[in-house]
Amino acid sequence: MQEIAAPTPLGPVRKPPGPVVIWNLIRRCNLTCKHCYSISADKDFAGELSTAEVFGVMDQLKAFKVPALILSGGEPLLRPDIFEISARSKQMGFFTALSSNGTLIDAPMFERIREIGYDYVGVSLDGLGATHDKFRRKEGAFDLSLAGIRLCREAGLKVGVRYTMTQDNFRDLPGLLRLVENEGIDRFYFSHLNYAGRGNKNRKDDALHQMTKDAMDLLFDTCWRYEELRQQRGIVKEFTTGNNDADGVYLLHWLQRRFPEKVEHIRKKLAQWGGNSSGVNVANIDNLGNVHPDTMWWHYTIGNVRQRSFADIWSDTSDPLMAGLKAHPRKVGGRCGACIHFDICGGNTRVRAQQMSGDPWAEDPGCYLSDEEIGIA
Ligand code: SF4
Repeated sequence: MQEIAAPTPLGPVRKPPGPVVIWNLIRRCNLTCKHCYSISADKDFAGELSTAEVFGVMDQLKAFKVPALILSGGEPLLRPDIFEISARSKQMGFFTALSSNGTLIDAPMFERIREIGYDYVGVSLDGLGATHDKFRRKEGAFDLSLAGIRLCREAGLKVGVRYTMTQDNFRDLPGLLRLVENEGIDRFYFSHLNYAGRGNKNRKDDALHQMTKDAMDLLFDTCWRYEELRQQRGIVKEFTTGNNDADGVYLLHWLQRRFPEKVEHIRKKLAQWGGNSSGVNVANIDNLGNVHPDTMWWHYTIGNVRQRSFADIWSDTSDPLMAGLKAHPRKVGGRCGACIHFDICGGNTRVRAQQMSGDPWAEDPGCYLSDEEIGIA
């Protein structure tokens, strides 16, 4: 949106030094959410990395120039050494984020969170009140999570809400956006439902394409309003969408309606961004030390940090999936192969293709754009 308001020159391609690592440090969770990709439960899982092992891996990640650690779970706050790990992460200069369901952030827990000074605290909300509680399978979860968010906000920590949209909660999106406004929340992360983990079992519940477009229109309109507020009053709010790289293409269609004169410039910027970056700029380590191309590839392991260094695992393109993900451009078939916006989207989410068709290089079945919108009609 800032590029629409004040275009900047294209500049050189930005290459992050290493991938952002999303680290599921623990599988245990106090909730059993409908869309959980890690299929967690409120019990201890055997064989998880010890504190010393986690520290050793952190050294490897630092050496590999990983810029950011997103500490996740399960529920990361259930890990007894979470604050030891977090403090070390901050000390080592990682951008350190905590990804929590928020229900355990009461006053004493919050004191520990404040001491660490996380760069970002992300809390998942699936809707307002009862909708959220139903998704989280726990009455009162919404109130607990919101109380946690408020504590973080009041202390000046950067806090965001993460929302995964499905047919059962899309009605809550406008209300959630109002909540983000009223509560002074810094960031809103909109996630499309992916087909992995518990999400895979709920594939039939996935949001319909028109509903997705309506949601994206609402988000883009909201972002543009905030861009105007930023210019007028310096109010900054961040919006991110995830798990569907067709969003970049849909942004162009939104622009065509709202600011057609900006399409060309934004198209160049989006193409430079290049779409999906699983296995390139995003990495995942699970609770057992297995490394995956991202969090949605838990059924596919490319190595284990107990056996090989992260650098070795991540750089090894003898693995066919990693070779394919790192190829530029990726070789993707079907609609994606024919799509005129492939350079913007990169063929979207390979795990959806793999889970639907068995072929990770088939078209992404989660593309919500029509043949006209991808230029193949
Ligand atoms: S057809 Fe494929 S490459 Fe084109 S926008 Fe859809 S998901 Fe992306």
